[in-house]
Amino acid sequence: MSEASPCLGCGICCTHFRISFYWAEADDVPGGFVPAHMTEKLNHHLRCMKGSNDVPRRCAALQGVPGEGVFCTIYENRPTPCREFPVYFEDGSPNPKCDELRATIGLPSLGPLVPLPQAA
Ligand code: SF4
Ligand code: SF4
Repeated sequence: MSEASPCLGCGICCTHFRISFYWAEADDVPGGFVPAHMTEKLNHHLRCMKGSNDVPRRCAALQGVPGEGVFCTIYENRPTPCREFPVYFEDGSPNPKCDELRATIGLPSLGPLVPLPQAA
């Protein structure tokens, strides 16, 4: 999830995927940053966000109502898979997986990102 407004009215990806990542991203080891108390061990190599390994899934860090208004309570410290799931690609086109997920809760497709006009 990013700070872009489409995510703040969506959040469905935070209830869809198992959010798993290298164990050392959790902050109970040096260099970690994801709050460890919000994670659980999957195996020797991986942890996941609590709530995302159960069905129905819902990441423990998600606040709000998906499709209405949400935010990530650990946004600055979210794990790698959250950082690497784009709403828009570099060319401004929307992530088709977003549109697929958004449709499941009745949200409209994302249009292409319109670049802001350059300051004179
Ligand atoms: S599915 Fe896409 S638009 Fe919706 S919150 Fe996730 S990244 Fe944002
Ligand atoms: S850590 Fe934040 S962005 Fe990642 S799934 Fe959980 S609520 Fe969503």
